[in-house]
Amino acid sequence: MVVVGAGPAGASLALLLARRGLGVVLIDATGRGSRPFRGEGLMPSGLAALAAMGLRPLPAAMAQRPLAGWSFFLDGQLLFKAAEPMGSPVPCTLIDQDDLLRELLRQAGRQPGFRFLAGQTASDLLLREDRVTGVRLADGSGLEAELVVACDGRDSLLRRKAGLALETAPSPLDVLWFRLLAPEAEAIVTWLAGHFVTVVGSSGSYALYPSARGGVQLGWAIAPGVPAPATAGPGAWAERWARDAPDPLARLLLALPEAAMQGPVRLPVRVGLCPRWQRPGLLLLGDAAHPMSPLRAQGINMALRDALVAARHLGTALMEGEPGRSAAIDAATAAVVAERRPEILRIQQLQAQEAHRADLLRRGHLLRGMLARSARWSGPLLARRWQAGQRKLRNGTRAIDRDI
Ligand SMILES: Cc1cc2nc3c(=O)[nH]c(=O)nc-3n(C[C@H](O)[C@H](O)[C@H](O)COP(=O)(O)OP(=O)(O)OC[C@H]3O[C@@H](n4cnc5c(N)ncnc54)[C@H](O)[C@@H]3O)c2cc1C
Repeated sequence: MVVVGAGPAGASLALLLARRGLGVVLIDATGRGSRPFRGEGLMPSGLAALAAMGLRPLPAAMAQRPLAGWSFFLDGQLLFKAAEPMGSPVPCTLIDQDDLLRELLRQAGRQPGFRFLAGQTASDLLLREDRVTGVRLADGSGLEAELVVACDGRDSLLRRKAGLALETAPSPLDVLWFRLLAPEAEAIVTWLAGHFVTVVGSSGSYALYPSARGGVQLGWAIAPGVPAPATAGPGAWAERWARDAPDPLARLLLALPEAAMQGPVRLPVRVGLCPRWQRPGLLLLGDAAHPMSPLRAQGINMALRDALVAARHLGTALMEGEPGRSAAIDAATAAVVAERRPEILRIQQLQAQEAHRADLLRRGHLLRGMLARSARWSGPLLARRWQAGQRKLRNGTRAIDRDI
């Protein structure tokens, strides 16, 4: 079989199937481990998926940092803090996504049936009547396969080539990413004390956290498609962040040398769900089937959970003898979608609710002011409500089975 895309969905699926002794060709348009930055947050739901794959504890060599908690500031005033693990078995953990993917590929590389074609782009599907029979590569060569699993991300070319529709939801935001580099950002890392901090104020909203790689990641929310504000350089961004930041964060941001700031990189956010994730000989997984918003770190987690479920159903079908093998594969792809779609639908609904609340706070300066002024008594109430609403976003909507 062929898996297209070595992100979290494709790399983990390839490992799980190769471990079963199946022949798996994984192809990815980029080289090994050279991915643009996306995100580092693994929820307990994703950590449970890694445990079910036999990948917990995470190898010590993988950059990782358990979160100590979440803090919310409105107009410079602390609204509330919530300590990890918030009733989950393990805390949300920041990881270096490149390290995770390299580890998945390293373990897959030990399996005799695994082959990785790095730097190869799938440009089309091979078809025989209505059945997908492989992929065409950008160099014109073809790779025949009894099943193609497209894990090629939110802009999936193979989804379009297969004619599978994506129902998109209005995008809640785009994100401008910045990196505040170590060692200069160390004082900010110390102030964060392991917290994921959200700041909302009159000049906008942003979130920052201590990166697993060292230094700080900072994401500034911006309305979709709206041009980034023109600034006279990184220093002007620091001034903008400082306006709504509590002290001493404001002072630490202003003191940061410009050379210690990288960005912004604009990351357009896309959210959607395919009504059909499969057709004969083809299955979509991860963002290709359901592009996820970055809110509350869900996409990597859902991709890993997709892969676990897919490996269980496909592993059996791909070992089926002839005749009936193609029918078994198609039944298995349908079973994967039936099992995964409800969780994705629910998680996307919960993310949309979070986005709506964040938008109300961003736009509503009266509401923000009122909450900030009454934080001493409204904060604990809001903290309890917020934590109760996070349960499914943290743990997923269902337990995940251990992989064989
Ligand atoms: C700003 C931002 C922050 C985020 N933060 C987090 C977070 O903290 N935690 C979290 O869980 N999620 C986060 N996400 C979401 C998460 O990054 C994605 O949901 C997740 O990476 C999806 O995994 P995937 O394997 O489906 O696809 P991807 O990770 O997108 O991988 C797709 C792979 O396919 C390859 N590819 C694409 N087209 C082709 C082709 N034609 N041929 C060959 N290869 C191809 C690409 O090179 C890529 O390696 C964030 C997203 C954004 C936008």
